Amino acid sequence: MAEEIKAAENAAGNFIYDFITEDIAPGGQYEGREVHTRFPPEPNGYLHIGHAKAICVDFGMAERFGGKCNLRMDDTNPTKEDVEYVDAIKEDIAWLGFHWDDRFYFASEYFDDMYHYAVELIEKGLAYVCELTPDQMRANRGDLSHPAVSPYRDRPVEESLRLFEGMKNGEYPDGSMTLRAKIDLASGNFNMRDPVIYRINRLHHHRTGDKWCIYPMYDFAHPIEDAIEGITHSLCTLEFEDHRPLYDWVIKNTSVPNVPRQIEFARLGINNTVMSKRKLRQLVEDHFVSGWDDPRMPTLCGLRRRGYTPASIRNFCERIGVAKTNSVVDYAFLEHCLREDLNERAQRVMVVLRPVKLVITNYPEGQTESFEIENNPNREEDGKRTITFSRECYIEAEDFLEEKVKGYNRLYPGNEVRLKSAYIVKCTGCKKDENGNVVEVYAEYDPETRGGDTPDGRKVRGTIHWVNAESYVEAEVRLYDNLFTDPEPDTGDKNFLDYINPESLVVLQGCKAEPFLASAGLTDRYQFMRCGYFCADKDSTAGHLIFNRSVSLKDGFKKK
Ligand code: ATP
Ligand code: MG
Repeated sequence: MAEEIKAAENAAGNFIYDFITEDIAPGGQYEGREVHTRFPPEPNGYLHIGHAKAICVDFGMAERFGGKCNLRMDDTNPTKEDVEYVDAIKEDIAWLGFHWDDRFYFASEYFDDMYHYAVELIEKGLAYVCELTPDQMRANRGDLSHPAVSPYRDRPVEESLRLFEGMKNGEYPDGSMTLRAKIDLASGNFNMRDPVIYRINRLHHHRTGDKWCIYPMYDFAHPIEDAIEGITHSLCTLEFEDHRPLYDWVIKNTSVPNVPRQIEFARLGINNTVMSKRKLRQLVEDHFVSGWDDPRMPTLCGLRRRGYTPASIRNFCERIGVAKTNSVVDYAFLEHCLREDLNERAQRVMVVLRPVKLVITNYPEGQTESFEIENNPNREEDGKRTITFSRECYIEAEDFLEEKVKGYNRLYPGNEVRLKSAYIVKCTGCKKDENGNVVEVYAEYDPETRGGDTPDGRKVRGTIHWVNAESYVEAEVRLYDNLFTDPEPDTGDKNFLDYINPESLVVLQGCKAEPFLASAGLTDRYQFMRCGYFCADKDSTAGHLIFNRSVSLKDGFKKK
């Protein structure tokens, strides 16, 4: 176990692990305490692969130290929250394989505490009600050589107490007043220039209803939430680094029951996609994709529908590691992690995506025979299944050419090819329709090559997959590509919607699949030989089978 931890730690090059180790060691600030982290999503959208990284860090770190991780909905900002998202977030985290047990919270549960701590700050002379409008405040925030200004900074404590209570009781219009922490108007860190910690906003909250018309700002609320829950390590992304002094200030100056430590790590970015919930929502609402779970989306529900496994995503997050500088990870690496996992577990099957019929003219009509085929060459325990062979089968149209082309080892008149696990056949020609399209290919089989071996040791270069034309099921197959043509569609002043890839979804109808695929379950994973890894789509029915290509076979990931 200790060795596993060490190996994982090395793999991730993990400074967070080191900080926590120091903190709980003898003499450390949390000596003898159980490590306690939290994952605090804002329920205003579905989780994406970036969140998966944070989840793996938050839950994973607690797991490594034998501690706990809370799941907390960060619902202090009531504008766009929705119960639909809350359930989806839970489902996604559970799917990844992490557990919060009974520690599921809403930040809004602490609104009373937050109000109480705000009053405490006013009483200590550390907060005041400011009547600058948002515009005036912006105009008065100063710059590096000029401090910010507020004419209300020195108003008496009693007055601020009375006004803050009035704010809470709905006596003043939205935006007319704020509560500000009294810290340092000249600070080089603008987050410390008397930041707003409460604002008036008459918004209906999905849990507290209309009880509140004032809402706390994130920088004030978050440390209090962490402290109340007994969090030791509050792990968050790098953009909060400049907010840490404020986090620590709130903890130090209020009588919260516990002192959490904030540690920041880099956000995950992946090329050829966008990761912000706002942009993902726009893709959904403007119908560029079929929904949050469209298999092209970087959302966890999209990746799941695409065929990603929890193991592949956790492995990806583990291997990209945590660092202090933001970087963009190659999408190909995510695919590489999936391919690795599916290579181990996926059942090998034959499906013809763009079929043309192959007739074995010297094979007796009405005769059939069966072959045993391994379900997964990597896992003997997965056993074998029987496939049926007869005079006609389907092959990929691209596996036949009317004339030889250099380097092409598949069917063309005169050439021999192996029909996977069955026989070696020699192409004799084809039939075309009036438009010149090939409608049937002809070949003769060599009865001495049952199973695909040549008794005389002659070389047959090509092996192609096939599906029996008497026993097959039809399927729709969906092939996916990057959603965006530009590797960084949302950098600079680019509009990401200008870079949508029109070929990101290709739908094939009338594909021919081995008959047992009619009962493919949603968690089953297949390798369609020579075509990629696939899984059944959630819309697949017995009458209309649908398969998604999770990832192609060719690995585009290059170790740098
Ligand atoms: P978005 O910009 O996508 O809306 P967010 O940070 O506003 O992201 P939250 O719901 O507030 O989304 O995020 C919950 C947690 O997940 C936060 O701790 C946040 O730091 C982390 N997180 C969000 N996006 C990423 C990412 N791309 N990489 C790593 N962690 C992330
Ligand atoms: Mg957010």
